[in-house]
Amino acid sequence: MASAARSCARHRWGEPQRTTYETVRTCQRCGLERVTRHEPDRLPWVEFRAQGVTAIGYRGTPPCVPRREAGPTSTGVALEGRRHG
Ligand SMILES: [Zn+2]
Repeated sequence: MASAARSCARHRWGEPQRTTYETVRTCQRCGLERVTRHEPDRLPWVEFRAQGVTAIGYRGTPPCVPRREAGPTSTGVALEGRRHG
């Protein structure tokens, strides 16, 4: 329950939604999903999903880039241009 209210380019995670092996929290600013996977016989790990697509290749947390509202060209390719490296 440590809630440090820092607002510096960090994600603003909403309420965690737990399923059997996952805990999903969605950023209220950019819509990124932080998924904590906890499966039996494994150590838990964290994945990040943007609009249903798992962001593979990140080590650590992807940057929080708030979506622009009323964007006519927002076609769900938010990660397309940021996958370099
Ligand atoms: Zn965010």
